[in-house]
Amino acid sequence: MQKPSDTIVALATPPGRGGVGIIRLSGPDANKIAQAITLHELKPRHAHYTDFHLDQETILDQGIALFFPSPNSFTGEDVIELQGHGGPVVLDMLIRRTLELGARIANPGEFSERAFLNDKIDLAQAEAIADLIDASSEMAAKSAIKSLQGEFSLKVTSLVEELIQLRLYVEAAIDFPEEEIDFLSDGRVQQQLSDITESIDSLLSEAQQGAILRDGMNVVLAGRPNAGKSSLLNALAGKESAIVTDIPGTTRDVLKEHVQIDGMPIHIIDTAGLRESNDQVEKIGIQRAWNEISEADRLLLVVDSQEEDLNSLIKEVLSDLVKNVEQLPPITVLQNKCDLVKKDPAFSELEYPTITLSAKLGIGVDLLKQHLKSCMGFQSNNEGVFIARRRHITAIEKASSNLANATTQLLEFNAGELVAEELRLAQQALSEITGEFSADDLLGRIFSSFCIGK
Ligand code: GDP
Ligand code: ZN
Repeated sequence: MQKPSDTIVALATPPGRGGVGIIRLSGPDANKIAQAITLHELKPRHAHYTDFHLDQETILDQGIALFFPSPNSFTGEDVIELQGHGGPVVLDMLIRRTLELGARIANPGEFSERAFLNDKIDLAQAEAIADLIDASSEMAAKSAIKSLQGEFSLKVTSLVEELIQLRLYVEAAIDFPEEEIDFLSDGRVQQQLSDITESIDSLLSEAQQGAILRDGMNVVLAGRPNAGKSSLLNALAGKESAIVTDIPGTTRDVLKEHVQIDGMPIHIIDTAGLRESNDQVEKIGIQRAWNEISEADRLLLVVDSQEEDLNSLIKEVLSDLVKNVEQLPPITVLQNKCDLVKKDPAFSELEYPTITLSAKLGIGVDLLKQHLKSCMGFQSNNEGVFIARRRHITAIEKASSNLANATTQLLEFNAGELVAEELRLAQQALSEITGEFSADDLLGRIFSSFCIGK
């Protein structure tokens, strides 16, 4: 990606009315534009209380102007912040004035993208900014800050460094085959391969926790009307863990509820909302829900414990889902309303894991929570974890399999060249996390999902 040469502008505060509204400029003309608006020379990193001018005569607003000269700014370019009153009309006029003076409106994520291009942050850190803004739980926010501060990147780059060192050693061994000592079979390469493999595997499990913190678990609730789906949802959400209905960055979806279990976000789709519809918009929404169900992590099938023939009931409820969903997620049967029956529930007959509970009385709800966490391999003591994305996990898995191949090549064939090649591939896979070797379209995809002004 080419380094940009133009100056961008965007509203840095949320749109709408507010006490303060901040406009941010970045690029070579930022300072010149600010001078034309404030009629001041701005001292670097000083807060100037000043008028904002539309032209020599007309004053638009008054506020604070800040100048962060390159390279000591968020983007690495000259950055200007104009902090005015938070009225949409005033801010809009101010932005239009900067456009007249040569700025252009920034694309989503373009400030962060410039910070990345100017080596102020790496790709994983840039993603952490978006994840911090979108964090749906305290734990996710804490983890995002860890990634933003570079904890994840540091682990990745030090692994990359170890891979490079080992690769150099192996390549040197190949280049001097006439040496007395056989470098490849002296045990050192094998030992280091095993050390690095161990580090990569522990990075993988940390990243998996980080990804669950970010993305959570998708759960589908199914069952006949009155089985207790809504009651269960409330029992899971509990009083203290608020139901988040609108996670920024995701479309609001009436069929979806968000709850948290020990900091693990859970997105619950209630199939009660999935009915035949002739409304075009609703149809699209329902189709989207079917798609989500096929990608869900778990299907919770809620049945009334008073039911006589559970197996045929389960078949009946599933038959409707099967018609619309390509592949059903793994199923757990919840025998609800256990408070209403005396007899032992019919465990043994069922082919699915089964939990007996009473959503109304809260019996068995903790057991269900533990069950959901263990389905995802989620640990509650996730305080130290950094945030991670699916793409990071894929990269680490790739590196791990390259290392496994390298070990095989070494131990079974003593094939130095192939060991070196696998090490190179592992190094490349890990480097994609920090964006060292990332294709432009990947970068474009990542930054375009950011919000405007970030
Ligand atoms: P849904 O249609 O599947 O969402 O079912 P609801 O959650 O609306 O529950 C239907 C009825 O069953 C309500 O009157 C609930 O109070 C009742 N109910 C739900 N769970 C239990 C339970 O565990 N025990 C008892 N006794 N009643 C329950
Ligand atoms: Zn309901």
